[in-house]
Amino acid sequence: MTGSGANNRDVKKINRIRTIRSIFSCDRISQPELAAKVNNSWPTVLQNVKELMAMGLVQEVGTFESTGGRKARAFAPVRNARLAVGLEITQNHVGAVLVDLSGNLLHYERKKRLYERSDIYAEMLARIVQGLIEKEGCPVEKILGVGISLPGILDKEGQTLVYSHALGLRNVPTEEFSRYIPFSCRFINDANAAGLAEVRDLESPRSLVYLSLSNSVGGAILTGGALYGGDHLRAGEFGHNTLVPDGRPCYCGKKGCLDAYCSAKVLSQLTDGNLALFFDGLRSGNAALQTAWNEYLSYLAVAVNNLRMTFDCDVIVGGYVGGFLAEFGEPLREMLVERNTFEPDSSYLKFSRYRLEASALGAALLHIEAFIQNL
Ligand SMILES: [Zn+2]
Repeated sequence: MTGSGANNRDVKKINRIRTIRSIFSCDRISQPELAAKVNNSWPTVLQNVKELMAMGLVQEVGTFESTGGRKARAFAPVRNARLAVGLEITQNHVGAVLVDLSGNLLHYERKKRLYERSDIYAEMLARIVQGLIEKEGCPVEKILGVGISLPGILDKEGQTLVYSHALGLRNVPTEEFSRYIPFSCRFINDANAAGLAEVRDLESPRSLVYLSLSNSVGGAILTGGALYGGDHLRAGEFGHNTLVPDGRPCYCGKKGCLDAYCSAKVLSQLTDGNLALFFDGLRSGNAALQTAWNEYLSYLAVAVNNLRMTFDCDVIVGGYVGGFLAEFGEPLREMLVERNTFEPDSSYLKFSRYRLEASALGAALLHIEAFIQNL
C-alpha cells in the first residue's frame, strides 16, 4: 500500500462526506448547486451521489428549471433511512429521543425514574428504548444504535464511568447500563452531549464553549466541531472553576466553586426544588426571588466573561437554567459588557436552542456522526 493510495482514499472519503452533508443540509439541491457546495467537478460528485443513492440515503427528485435551457437534476436526502436513539440518565429522570440522519428530533420523552444500581433499572432502560421504537413504528434494521448520556466523567473508550457525583458511582463499567439493550451503545458525558447537540447542523464546524447550568454545572469545549477532552477527559468541568476564593462549599469538597453559585439548585432550592416555580415567581414580581436572580446573574457574568476571555469564541449557556435565559437573561448581557475588556457588546453569548432534550439528542448524534464518517 502506498502513501498516495491512502491519500486518494482519504480525499474520496472527504468528498463523499462533504456530498452527504451538503445534500442533508437542505430539502432539495440542484446538480450545479451541489457541485459548487462540494467544490468538486460534477463527474466526481455524481459518482458519490450514485453510491449514496444505491445505499438508499439520497434520492433523485425531478429537475430544477435552469437558465441555460437545460434542466438541472435535483437530489434530496432520505432523512429517515437510518435513525438513532438517545438516552439521558440523571439521578431522577430518564430522557429518550429518536433522531433521523439530519439530527432532527422525531420523538422526545422524559420519565421520572430514580437511578438505582440494579438489573431492574437496566431492564427498564431497555424497555424505554424498545417502547420508543415501537411507538414510532420504525423498522429495527434502521436503528444505528443507542447513545447514552451519563452525568459524570467517562474513560476514553466510554467503557467505564470513572466518577459520577449525581449517581454516587466510581469506576463502574458502562455495560451495567446497556446490558439489556439489543443495539450498539455509545456513552458520553452529559454536558459534552449537550454541546454536540448545540453545534449540530451548522454547516461549517465551529469552535465554541458550552456552559451547562443544571443541578450541577458542567460544560464542553468544541474546536472545529469536535470535542476537546483534555488529558483526562475532564476538560469543560467549569463547575469547579474557583469563582470566589474560600467561598461557599461545593459538593466536591472544595470552597468557592462556580457550581456553588450557578447550579440550578441555587435557584430551585428557593421554591421547593421546582425551578419552573422560581421563574413563575419572577414573572409575578416576587422581590426576594428577583434579588436572588440578580445575584445569580452577577456570578454567572463573571463565569461567562472568563470563558470569553479564555477561549475567544461564542459561549452558549444551556442546561436547566439556560432554557429560561431567552426570557430572563437580558440583564446578563449588560453585565457582560461592563466586564469585557475588548468588546462593546455581548453578541458572542448565545442561549441554548434545546432545553431538557439536549443531552439525549447529543448522545444519539454520536451514532449518526459515526455512520457518516464511516460511509
Ligand atoms: Zn467544586
